[in-house]
Amino acid sequence: MTRIAIAGAAGRMGRTLIELCQASDTLSLAAAVERPGAPQVGLDPGVLVGSQPAGCVIVDDLAAVLDDFDVLIDFTLPESTLRNVATCRAAGKRMVIGTTGLGADAAQVRAAGDDVAIVFAPNMSVGVNLCFRLIELAARALGDDFDVEIVEAHHRHKIDAPSGTAVRMGEIVAETLGRDLATCAVYGREGRTGPRDSRTIGFETIRAGEIVGDHTVLFAGAGERVEITHRAADRSTFAHGALRAAAWVAARDRGVFDMQDVLGLRD
Ligand code: NAD
Repeated sequence: MTRIAIAGAAGRMGRTLIELCQASDTLSLAAAVERPGAPQVGLDPGVLVGSQPAGCVIVDDLAAVLDDFDVLIDFTLPESTLRNVATCRAAGKRMVIGTTGLGADAAQVRAAGDDVAIVFAPNMSVGVNLCFRLIELAARALGDDFDVEIVEAHHRHKIDAPSGTAVRMGEIVAETLGRDLATCAVYGREGRTGPRDSRTIGFETIRAGEIVGDHTVLFAGAGERVEITHRAADRSTFAHGALRAAAWVAARDRGVFDMQDVLGLRD
C-alpha cells in the first residue's frame, strides 16, 4: 500500500481525492493537511466527506505528519505548494502537484526534482493529455498558415486565468511552431485592435457557474478550420489521474514528470 497525504483536503479537489483514495485497494489515506485556521482541522478526513473514518485527522502543518506518508498530493494555492515543495524536498518525500498559477515559481518545483520525484501537471485528465498530443500533431501539420486561438471555460470560483491547461496548450503550439509564448500570446481583445497578427496565439477566458473545465484549441486557415475540444464533466477525472500519478511516482527516485510520462504518451 502506498501511503498518501492530501494537502488542501477540504477543497473541491481535496474532497474528491479523499473519496477516491478511501475506495482504492492500492493507496491508503494516511494524512491530510489544511490551511491554519480552516474549520476542518482536527476532523477525520473520511468523516469530512461522509465515508468511513480514515484513522487520521486533518492537521495544519505538513511537518507534523512527515513520517506518516509516502506521496503528498497537493491541490492548494501556489504559495502553499511552494512551501510544501521545500518541506518535501528536505524530507525526501515524493509529490504529485496539481496546483496551477505558479508562473515563474515553477522553477522551484523543477529544481526540487534534483532530490525527489515529482509529478507536476496542470491537468491530470487522460483526455486532456491525449489532446496535448493531438494539438502538437495539428500544429506541426497546419503550420504558420493557420491562426491559433485557445478558448477555456471554468467555474466562477477559479482564481487564475487563463487556466494552467490553456497555458500548457499554448506552450505546446508555440514550441511546435518555433515561437516564444511569452511574446506571441494575446490575452482577450477589445476596441480597435487592428487586423490579426498571424504569428500570435490568442487566449479567451470564460468564468461562469459551475463549469468543471472546457478547452478548445482552434486552428483556422483558408476555407477550413479544425477544433480540438475537451470537456470535463466531473472533477473525479482529475482525481483519478492524480491517484494514478501518485502510484506511478512512488516507484521513482528523482526528477520532475508530467502526465505524458505517467500515461506513457511520450515518444
Ligand atoms: P479549492 O479552493 O476548492 O481548494 C483548495 C484548498 O486548499 C482549500 O480547501 C484551501 O483551504 C486549501 N489550502 C490553502 N492554503 C493551504 C495551506 N497552506 N495548506 C493546506 N491547505 C491549504 O480549489 P480546487 O478547485 O480544489 O483547486 C485547487 C488547485 O488545483 C487550483 O490551483 C486549481 O487550478 C488546481 N486544479 C488542478 C487540476 C489538475 O488536473 N491539475 C484540476 C482541478 C484543479
